[in-house]
Amino acid sequence: MKISVTLLSSYLYCSRKLFLEKVLKLEEPPKESLVMGTIRHEAYDYINKKEELIVSSIEKKIPLGEVQELYKKEYLKILRKVIVNNKLRLKEVNINMLDAYKKSFPFILEESSTRALNIFNFIEQNNVFGEVLWERLTPKIISELRVESDELRLKGIIDQVHVYDNDYVPFELKTGKMPFDGIWPSHRVQIAAYSMLLQERFNKDIKEGFVVYLDTKEKRHIAINPYMKEEVIQLVNEVIDLLESKELPDFCNNKNKCRKCGLREKCYSKGEMENLLKIRANRSETPIKQKHLNIT
Ligand code: SF4
Repeated sequence: MKISVTLLSSYLYCSRKLFLEKVLKLEEPPKESLVMGTIRHEAYDYINKKEELIVSSIEKKIPLGEVQELYKKEYLKILRKVIVNNKLRLKEVNINMLDAYKKSFPFILEESSTRALNIFNFIEQNNVFGEVLWERLTPKIISELRVESDELRLKGIIDQVHVYDNDYVPFELKTGKMPFDGIWPSHRVQIAAYSMLLQERFNKDIKEGFVVYLDTKEKRHIAINPYMKEEVIQLVNEVIDLLESKELPDFCNNKNKCRKCGLREKCYSKGEMENLLKIRANRSETPIKQKHLNIT
């Protein structure tokens, strides 16, 4: 069995919730924050894919204002496209497309200004243009990179990998609250797991990673160490055990998490839980070879 890296974070957040979703097949109703997070993620993905085209189109020295305009025009086009693509999701959480645009606009504008300034400075220092500019530019950003490993029993999609001459650095983009200091444990585990997958894929030692908290526009660093890797291996075992288990894990004992949880009502209903566990028990009497399943 190969499991998705995101399940490790979900397990750390609340193992009972993971069991409800993946074993008892309950679905949390869509939330505004999740839909807006998806829009921002998709926009960043398109932005990264467009980068080569934008950079290579700069054929001569132009003022910073013009570089900024070039980026802004392309990025806002992308944002409009992503919002239209997510029209139905937005409707489910009662947000109209104009509001979604207004909410995402500042982040996209900020990203376009930052990247425009980086390129402008790179040109000033290196005096190269067009395709040569793109070739020389570091880091290059690969977005939504799929990685997997039979040995680690893990798979996932890394938001961004920044590729330097000889280094690969995983980046995770997160919406929502940021911790006062450092990064949330679930994000740390995700970065550690991705670093292991990248190491196997490119045969390179991965020394560090970053979590970008989009709402506060803050980038937090994490140094990878061997203990984190052991923790990931241990967590993979625990998650696989949980997915194959017939026992409902205990409550997470965190009122804040439960208050925000879309599965709260069902989770706290003894009758509902007993019923679902019975269904699960009957289902598992049908011989399903779990070991051959990939679980996301
Ligand atoms: S209500 Fe609380 S314990 Fe139940 S699944 Fe949600 S977060 Fe976990």
